Amino acid sequence: MVQYKTVIDEKKCIFCLNCVVACPQEVIEADYKKKKAVVVDQVQCIACINCEESCPAQAVKIIGDKRIDWKIPPERWPELHANVRYARGP
Ligand code: SF4
Ligand code: SF4
Repeated sequence: MVQYKTVIDEKKCIFCLNCVVACPQEVIEADYKKKKAVVVDQVQCIACINCEESCPAQAVKIIGDKRIDWKIPPERWPELHANVRYARGP
């Protein structure tokens, strides 16, 4: 069951990929054709808010009833980046 909704405003997205790297659940991937971040696996979202906090353009919002109170610290993002799956390669 999807508890949370990850909403990306494509008009605001500057394709920096911060949210792709920051997401520990691989909910968001890079769409190189559109040059936008896209939500590909909403059901995995744990509402950690990493994506919201990593976005320099305020283009990502998490909508849901409640947010869990842990976050992946930025120093761990490179490690997570190694596991990032890109939906549609460069
Ligand atoms: S809230 Fe966390 S798990 Fe959900 S899309 Fe954002 S970074 Fe990924
Ligand atoms: S962090 Fe924001 S601007 Fe960067 S790719 Fe994600 S949605 Fe787009």
